[in-house]
Amino acid sequence: MTTTQPEPPTGTEPTAPVRRLRVVHERGEPDREAAARAVADLLVALGRNPADGHLADTPRRVADAYAELLTPPPFDLTTFPNDEGYDQLVLARGIPFGSLCQHHLLPFRGVAHVGYLPGARVSGLSKLARVVEWFARDLQVQERLTVQVADWLDQHLAADGVGVVIEADHQCMSLRGVRAAGSRTVTWALRGLLRDDARSRQEFLALAGLTS
Ligand code: ZN
Repeated sequence: MTTTQPEPPTGTEPTAPVRRLRVVHERGEPDREAAARAVADLLVALGRNPADGHLADTPRRVADAYAELLTPPPFDLTTFPNDEGYDQLVLARGIPFGSLCQHHLLPFRGVAHVGYLPGARVSGLSKLARVVEWFARDLQVQERLTVQVADWLDQHLAADGVGVVIEADHQCMSLRGVRAAGSRTVTWALRGLLRDDARSRQEFLALAGLTS
């Protein structure tokens, strides 16, 4: 689902190049008209009349909303040489995100805490949020979202360690079914030293708000 197009290194000195990796989707644009027709059919199947004045624009709105929720904007992953030799955890806490549960097409929303132990390079901080958004705008389950963010960063940052914690409220659980309003599901994925080194792992999980 991802195409990455490395760009030539840019920067004023060879020792300090900024590297940019363009991240774009291979998936085509959603067919909004077909989606709108399908929503109109769904309304009929649910015993509603899509010709009703109040619903007249609903199929188009729903199609547009889902197209937006399933299409992440392209972004550039920028990394810089770790000239200062910073060797402590970098953690972006509380990155808000929204995604769609692949089982019910209902939203789940929450926050991601994304951290890494820099190796030779560091990343622009806003990029961690971009990566979360990149994988969240899809039909998802929380476990896979967590693993995808961790694996992608592990692969592209060449960090010594990567950690991702996601806490989310699933509307398919809070609005229907067991109606477990207020319950949050927590998932985490660790790579490299954050997985293998007990002290680094403790530190990350404590900073991310988990105690063990
Ligand atoms: Zn669900």
